[in-house]
Amino acid sequence: MYVIGLTGGVGSGKTLAAEYINELTGAQLIISDDIGKEVMSGGTECTRRIINTFGSEIAPAGIIDRKALADVVFKDPGKKRMLEEIVHPAVKKYIKEFIDERKDKKGLIVLESAILRESHADIFCDEIWYIHADAASRTTRLQESRGYTQEKALSIMDKQSSDEEFMSQADRVIENPGKKEELKENLKMALKSLDQKKTDINRPTGSRN
Ligand code: ATP
Repeated sequence: MYVIGLTGGVGSGKTLAAEYINELTGAQLIISDDIGKEVMSGGTECTRRIINTFGSEIAPAGIIDRKALADVVFKDPGKKRMLEEIVHPAVKKYIKEFIDERKDKKGLIVLESAILRESHADIFCDEIWYIHADAASRTTRLQESRGYTQEKALSIMDKQSSDEEFMSQADRVIENPGKKEELKENLKMALKSLDQKKTDINRPTGSRN
């Protein structure tokens, strides 16, 4: 399997891009937020450690209330770090097992994460694509799709890597400032340029190239 890491800031379109790549190539997807939910679900070692660290207030009936936990760590960098020290290794283990189980198969795995490098999940990627859109488009999308206020969208962006940091870790930048169809076309072009020998996927057909 050939692993493409998709990274970018909140609302840049990483998940949508991952879904398009799945549609175009049959790629298997690892969506970091879904893994986060999985490792923090009932009965996991990670859940036990989070409750021990942050108290049962954030886990009524033993189930982690992710919103309550996010409220606790959002304003306190020390607590955020403590949470990351518990969650990142668990997420990394999940990703490693997912990839190891499929390593002799053909095709693509897409690993989507806003924190590929910070969580050290970048080590699993053969290449990294940065999904890029300007802050204004992202804010509008987040207001429309998730009901975020402008303040909320901007305060999340403020805590994430800058454009320059994302660019510096990426092998390729995929632009997504316009329509969804344009994102799909940009992805088709990028997929066509993948090395056939390494990836062995069906090449998507498209209007460009
Ligand atoms: P997060 O880091 O929060 O998970 P993300 O980078 O995965 O965000 P998406 O969830 O893919 O972002 O996109 C955010 C919202 O914006 C979704 O509703 C998605 O459908 C929409 N969106 C993404 N790209 C476009 C686009 N080019 N035009 C219109 N809407 C878009």
